[in-house]
Parts: sequence; structure tokens; C-alpha cells
Amino acid sequence: MTFDQRAYQVEYRKKYPDVVKQSNQRYYQSHKSDPHFMVTHRNRPGYSRDYWMAHKSDSHYKETASRANRNYREKKQQQLFDIFGDHCRCCGESNKVFLTLNHINGDGADERRRLTGNPQSGSMASWREAIRTKDHTRYEILCYNCNNAVKDGRVCPHKLSQQKK
Ligand SMILES: [Zn+2]
Ligand SMILES: [Zn+2]
Repeated sequence: MTFDQRAYQVEYRKKYPDVVKQSNQRYYQSHKSDPHFMVTHRNRPGYSRDYWMAHKSDSHYKETASRANRNYREKKQQQLFDIFGDHCRCCGESNKVFLTLNHINGDGADERRRLTGNPQSGSMASWREAIRTKDHTRYEILCYNCNNAVKDGRVCPHKLSQQKK
């Protein structure tokens, strides 16, 4: 959407609030039984936690929710790659399936505790923090092999074999 279109829509909403409200309601009425709509439009009028609780074991709902999560994850991962590079900084692995975010100072658990209150929570909070701060001194992209090898402050075997040469 271009800037002009957006400005036009804002103007339109101001001029015809009732028309816009009616059309939103019509849209809601015709989509409220569609699980995809119910999952992806949390800010819409009528969203309820009860609906979510009642449908969360429904297979269509589950699939839609997990697709929405996956899309979100892929979007965030791409943003990470754009900032920190799209290959392992140690071995150069470029298959994105193998890549993950490494906390250079080994403070991943501390950071998750600070951001979410739970050191065991998922990586998403750290991803968002890395994207927000763009701090190359704290974050880097490593493959799972190298990421695992440098845990507890160890040096990756790739680096050791380089030093021997
Ligand atoms: Zn690697
Ligand atoms: Zn390595």
C-alpha cells in the first residue's frame, strides 16, 4: 500500500465513520466462523479468549495457528539473517535450516530471564531483542553444530584445527 492510499483511507474513515463501521461488522459477521480469521485477527472486535480455549484442540484451528506461528518465525529469522548474515560465522554453513542465533557472551539464559522472567523460555524473545539492538558484539549466527560446540565458553573444533595448521 502506498502512502497516498493510506492517507486516503484515513480521510475516508474520518468522513464516513458509519460506513466503515458497517463494512467492518459485515466482514466480521461473514468471517467469524472461519478459524483462520479468528486466529490471525486478534485485534478485531469480538475476539475472545473463550473462543480460543474452545477451539484450540480443533485440528483446523491448530493447523492455522501453527502456520501463523511458522510464518512469524520465518519472518523474524529472515530479519536476523539480514542483520547478522545468513551463514554460520564459524564454519560458513549456509543452509538456513541449520542456522541459529548464538549469544557470544554466553548470556542467553540470563537474557531470557530478564526479558520473559523464564530462563527456559523459547528463543523468540532473544530474536526480537537481537533484531531491536542489532548488537554484533552480543549476537552472531552459528549453525547448530558450532553453536553447541561453543557452549560454556569452549572453542569450536573448527577453530582449533585452524590454529594447528
Ligand atoms: Zn558452523
Ligand atoms: Zn565451528
